[in-house]
Amino acid sequence: MSLLRILIFFVLGWIVWRLLRPAARNKVPRQPAKEISENMAACVWCGIYVPESEMVQDRKGQKFCCQAHLSLDDTKKRAPPS
Ligand SMILES: [Zn+2]
Repeated sequence: MSLLRILIFFVLGWIVWRLLRPAARNKVPRQPAKEISENMAACVWCGIYVPESEMVQDRKGQKFCCQAHLSLDDTKKRAPPS
């Protein structure tokens, strides 16, 4: 009768595995969707779209893709017109 006990053990294990699996599957696809939904904004200097969290802002609130473009825009405004 030990063979029948092993068979019952495997059937019960399979039922438990089947019950737990859909719950684990539902949790995975919902998390990456939140990361994708981030606002994008265009750089004032070059017009490239960058996530707003990675952008550099000047005193006037203008947004740049990097510190280099912010300083380029500053020097352009400071330079006397030729
Ligand atoms: Zn730029």
